[in-house]
Amino acid sequence: MRARLPYVPYASEPRRRFFEPAGHRGRRPLASRVPAHRPAAWPSGTPIHSLRTAATHYRPHGAASMQSLIENARAFSSSVAERRGDFTALAEEQRPQVLFISCSDARIVPSLITGARPGEIIELRTAGNIVPRHRTEANCAVGATLEYAVIALGVPDIVVCGHSCCDAVQDLVVGRPRPGMAMFSRWLQRAEYNSRPASVRRGVATQHHLKTQLEHLRSYPCVARRLRQRQLRLHGWFYDIASGEVLAYNSREIAFRPL
Ligand SMILES: [Zn+2]
Repeated sequence: MRARLPYVPYASEPRRRFFEPAGHRGRRPLASRVPAHRPAAWPSGTPIHSLRTAATHYRPHGAASMQSLIENARAFSSSVAERRGDFTALAEEQRPQVLFISCSDARIVPSLITGARPGEIIELRTAGNIVPRHRTEANCAVGATLEYAVIALGVPDIVVCGHSCCDAVQDLVVGRPRPGMAMFSRWLQRAEYNSRPASVRRGVATQHHLKTQLEHLRSYPCVARRLRQRQLRLHGWFYDIASGEVLAYNSREIAFRPL
């Protein structure tokens, strides 16, 4: 039997980052990210000896080309070599403390937002961070990941994180299916989004949508059981892409407040 969890949310200090993989390069102040000697293009085949070196090649608005991703992947093992002990331990087991459910949107990078190290969060990405209501016979990746995280890994916290400028939520607000995307449209129906007059603004719509997904989460037996046993906490976060601000849902105030 596990000890009951003390409920002291969001009280800890930010930690030093584990290391700075390429995906984290945007965290640096712009002046340090884009040095004067930055090449106009990243030559194909250029050896990259560390991810910190890769970070100097930050492109503020350019999408990463496949070649640059390949170069980073090639360089990654040398970065791992510098932290061999940490990664050897990771190879043995994972002990994540949080299941982080977020949108598939390319602009949402949970480890960038939270500073999580490898092995610390287990991720579940779905279009529109939708968590369908539990159905007993459903063959659903969401339910499978939930059961694995909650039962097999015993995570004590689940975050459902929505975000600003979410195309999926915008589609829910507009209520018009995209041509040729029948599966996407059917998936959005699982959100059970109930439009309200105040929901026309994207942030408000996303926050309204987020609360519904938190309720759906409670419908899963494994989640409901752990909640009854006070061994699990649910969190609703809203991430604003432009400012980086994260708001958390406060169920007592029925409002989103800064973390
Ligand atoms: Zn989204």
